[in-house]
Amino acid sequence: MKAAVKVRPEPGGTELLEVDTPIPGPNDALIRMDATSICGTDMHIYNWDLWARQHIKTPRIYGHEFSGTIVEAGKNVDYLQEGDSVSGECHVYCGHCHQCKMGNAHICENMTAFGVDTDGIFCEYQALPAQNLWVNDPKIPVEYLSLQDPLGNAVNTVFSAGDITGKNVVVLGCGPIGLLSITVAKAAGAAQVIAVGHSNKYRMDLARKVGADIVFGKEDDVIKEVKSLTDGIGADAVFEITGNPNAVIEGIHMARAGGTLALLGIFNEPVTLNLTDDIVFKCMDIKGIYGRKIWDTWITTNGLLKSKKLNLDPIITHKYKFNDILKGMETMASGNSGKIVLTF
Ligand SMILES: [Zn+2]
Ligand SMILES: [Zn+2]
Repeated sequence: MKAAVKVRPEPGGTELLEVDTPIPGPNDALIRMDATSICGTDMHIYNWDLWARQHIKTPRIYGHEFSGTIVEAGKNVDYLQEGDSVSGECHVYCGHCHQCKMGNAHICENMTAFGVDTDGIFCEYQALPAQNLWVNDPKIPVEYLSLQDPLGNAVNTVFSAGDITGKNVVVLGCGPIGLLSITVAKAAGAAQVIAVGHSNKYRMDLARKVGADIVFGKEDDVIKEVKSLTDGIGADAVFEITGNPNAVIEGIHMARAGGTLALLGIFNEPVTLNLTDDIVFKCMDIKGIYGRKIWDTWITTNGLLKSKKLNLDPIITHKYKFNDILKGMETMASGNSGKIVLTF
């Protein structure tokens, strides 16, 4: 089978190779990929940044966002059938640690991730643990199904603020997950979705197309603007999806007292906050968001997909065949893209 393999520990370093088709273990299912999308994590691996150097052993097949069709279920897997359309939760949980027992499999103590710690799905077939597979509704288009992992990040982030119907929310960051969060917040009935980008005009334009009510950039006094859009009160919820320390500090100042700040962005350095004035006295509700709740987030995500209220088409800016995956990586690296979906 064909696979995109990180063969060399260097920027790029990826080749489309012919490799052996995996053999599923008793608790796995072998999946033929139908569609995959390129994630920020894949770009870390492609660009070979510090995180990738610390986490990835070459050779490694990467990629973790997909929809595919089961071609063979392992002998202990009686609840999945050949022909089922599935997507996968890339965080492989153990099922027996303290967190798993508490129903917190998304923060499993023994978590591994396919496409990072083990081979991923930038390939024609992959054997994955059946417990990590989600059976898809075949009525939903495969390119949307392949987005359930990042869409789930957005759903988990937005709904961490509770019921946002009629509320004012701010999305910090107009990258793919920021864009997905905008459409999720709109679908959830937010009164105003205020998006904040930096300088990437292409993505800020996408934020408008996706449905943000207003989009600000680095030249704007965003704290003042958000205050004036909310009668001086501040936003009910701020979703931080940049990992930029300044954004998080500004985000706190955009939020109303008692509001929610949900953090999905990854910070490369410690961030200094004025805890007394900005968090304690302001009664801020701060949430750390990691991955997707298994399977609560997937259930909500599917409900939203079925509602047809999500505006995903503007977010999928490029569609390629899997053979052109390196072109997809380069397009994503340019910053002038939303999600890139590859079909097989
Ligand atoms: Zn992803
Ligand atoms: Zn566990």
